[in-house]
Amino acid sequence: MKIAFTTSEAYPFAKTGGLADVSNALPVALARRGHDVRIIMPRYYMVDRERYGLRVIGGPLGVPLGGGEKWAAVLESRHIPEVPVYFIEHDLYFGRDGLYDDGHSAYADNAERFIFFCRGALQALKDTGFVPDIIHCNDWQTGLIPVYHKTLYKEDRFFGGSATVMTVHNAGYQGVFPAEHYHLTQLDPGLFTDDGLAFFNQMNFLKGGLLYADAVTTVSRKYAAELGTPEFGYDLADVFQKVKDRFHGITNGVDYSKWNPESDPFIPARYSREKIDGKRACREALQQRMGIEIDPTAPLAGSISRVTYQKGMDVLADALRPLLADENLQFVLLGQGEEWILDRFRELKRLFPGRVGIFRGYDEGLSHLMEAGLDLYLMPSRYEPCGLNQMYSMRYGTIPIVRATGGLDDTVLEWDDKSLRGNGFKFAELTEKALYEKIRYAIRCFYTTRSWKKLQKNAMEFRYSWSDTAVEYEKMYEAVYAAAATRDEHGVPEKSRSRPDRAKGRRKPKP
Ligand code: ADP
Repeated sequence: MKIAFTTSEAYPFAKTGGLADVSNALPVALARRGHDVRIIMPRYYMVDRERYGLRVIGGPLGVPLGGGEKWAAVLESRHIPEVPVYFIEHDLYFGRDGLYDDGHSAYADNAERFIFFCRGALQALKDTGFVPDIIHCNDWQTGLIPVYHKTLYKEDRFFGGSATVMTVHNAGYQGVFPAEHYHLTQLDPGLFTDDGLAFFNQMNFLKGGLLYADAVTTVSRKYAAELGTPEFGYDLADVFQKVKDRFHGITNGVDYSKWNPESDPFIPARYSREKIDGKRACREALQQRMGIEIDPTAPLAGSISRVTYQKGMDVLADALRPLLADENLQFVLLGQGEEWILDRFRELKRLFPGRVGIFRGYDEGLSHLMEAGLDLYLMPSRYEPCGLNQMYSMRYGTIPIVRATGGLDDTVLEWDDKSLRGNGFKFAELTEKALYEKIRYAIRCFYTTRSWKKLQKNAMEFRYSWSDTAVEYEKMYEAVYAAAATRDEHGVPEKSRSRPDRAKGRRKPKP
């Protein structure tokens, strides 16, 4: 199939979180299964021309916006061998240091930037002549694409027979903006109703994507079930309920070519399930890098995370305080985020010198060293659509302690020291007490060397690979594509719809 994968971030070009990892790994896994996949994303300032071999393709790209038209360029990179990446370049919108914010607050023109991107992605497909069978959209930043596809582009034969898929990586971020920006979309004002794009009198990008896409997916089965409830659906629970017949949970995978202690270039010693000794050297290197005592016996716990309320990092800091007082525990944090939470960790560092290390910032290499050097990985999220670090941790023999929510609940199996089964620890209620007790229990297990070795082995054996996940996406694509090819606006089968035209060259003569 021909798949256009639209996203606001993809590794290694631009990454703020798990979406970037998925936006690399899933297209590559699909391409390896024989599909023709293109990634379409904005060209941010950080996407270096030289490093990624960007070259302009085609002429200027006209993108209708508001009362007029903006001009952009489409650049191509072949940096990922299996998947060409098309970047939409517009300096005013994307030539900035941040993706969505300046490090403190969200950019004031995010509505305009991503309306432009949604429209630009469809225009770029036409301009490059890549006729998609599936347009796969990811999170709110691409939420208007399914809306455009079913409205302004409905009669456009270029897209005839193509289907859209909307994947929700995190429903906590919906792209909600004041109604005054709506005119920029050029969509019919009649769509701005409570049954459509309006959301408490504002416009909601994600809601648009959910309502108009041919299929909706999210990144774990448990999160799919949770989204239909008010606690997790964030005022869109009724919309998730409404689309439930075309809503699927497909759990993310891990790119084991990048996350593997046997070959990881970022760690000082390699190790495997059979020969785990190298982990000790990684542990020491991590203690040194984080400026804490090189203590070979203290259990070393840590997190690599956006330091946000969603991730439960506030409760973690509170639970760590008595734990550090009661136990010979060490803790290291790699992350950036909300200052009020970071302050609590800074306070721990002050109270427990030599036992708490903080690296405030983003560092890919250090994140690998953390996975390899830690004994325990802490992930007490309030909600977690899928979560990747718990799975990365397992591969490195680092035992996750997670809250039983979303993908964390789907992937972590509670350790049972009688049957010796399980790959981690989990707890239900996010309270300081529950977290304290679970970490304390895990520390007890850590000191029981033989069963700890077995637990590490179990974790290292766990596999959730993209090649399996890609098969699930493929089945879903085939089903929605078949349905789209036999549908007209009255739901009447229309088998012959548009395939011959779609095959013709689409490249417009360039001015
Ligand atoms: P989310 O997408 O909600 O932030 P995930 O667990 O799905 O959470 O994915 C987070 C990804 O971002 C992981 O690959 C993680 O290692 C990475 N990450 C998060 N914060 C940092 C950081 N400060 N430095 C390096 N990598 C980070």
